[in-house]
Amino acid sequence: MAKINYRHHARQAHQRADAEMASGDDERLKYAALELRIAMESLAYERVLSYRSELPADKLNVWQPRKIMEVLLELDPKADKTSSLAVARESSPGVRAEPFKSMGTDRVVSNKEIKKYYDKLGSYLHAPTVKQAESGDTTPPDRVRERCRQIADIIGEALASPVFNINIRNSATLPCERCGEQIVRRMPPGEDDVDAACPKCEAPYTIVQLEGNKVEWRPQQGELRCGDTSCATPVFTWRDEITAGAHWTCDECGGTNVIALGLQFTAAEKSEADSDASEVEAEEGD
Ligand SMILES: [Zn+2]
Ligand SMILES: [Zn+2]
Repeated sequence: MAKINYRHHARQAHQRADAEMASGDDERLKYAALELRIAMESLAYERVLSYRSELPADKLNVWQPRKIMEVLLELDPKADKTSSLAVARESSPGVRAEPFKSMGTDRVVSNKEIKKYYDKLGSYLHAPTVKQAESGDTTPPDRVRERCRQIADIIGEALASPVFNINIRNSATLPCERCGEQIVRRMPPGEDDVDAACPKCEAPYTIVQLEGNKVEWRPQQGELRCGDTSCATPVFTWRDEITAGAHWTCDECGGTNVIALGLQFTAAEKSEADSDASEVEAEEGD
């Protein structure tokens, strides 16, 4: 598995954008805009890596910085916030012996800044539409240059952060009961329980906060019973496996059970005398 150093990638794109802007040639501005978009994307992917253990596999392919940030913000409302790190030595656990010493600030390109600049940069990469051309609704080069300069400065600040990808979390971990993969889930402060899914097989869990900073992992499973009423042996099935067409062989009677869509009908209430409800269930196939 090849790994990219996204910070390095972002730094190189940022330098190339600077060089394009420094040329003073208006025709080169679109290349600066392109490099700045690549720098923004690289910084967003770098952020993805710091949340990797908490992300389901299908989210690793999300590519627009705005969409990436939305995924991360769902996990952690602080994912796009600039933060500072300070440390202090303790003489014994919980007893601070020295004042806090600042380690620096992690300047993060925020979701707001991404929304403000990313699409705008994209619009500089295209020829104006006929409507834009006819109405004179095109961005003058000076304005493009100014916009590029603004976002290049923001990216420059982010790249100059002495500490980066600070991700201190109160999290719970568990090896997945279905596939063994390590699952990490942040516990948002003030929440009693939170849903989690295995990043590999997507097995669903509920994590319940208990007393004393302890948590309990509850696999989201349902009990199904063998369809032969004289057997009715129970099985426990993951909630995400209960889908039409799924099947199992009963350990007890050897019969095959297929989960099928069912239909339940309840007649409208009439009078007390004839309010019998009747049920119709879909027949299982043979
Ligand atoms: Zn799993
Ligand atoms: Zn059975």
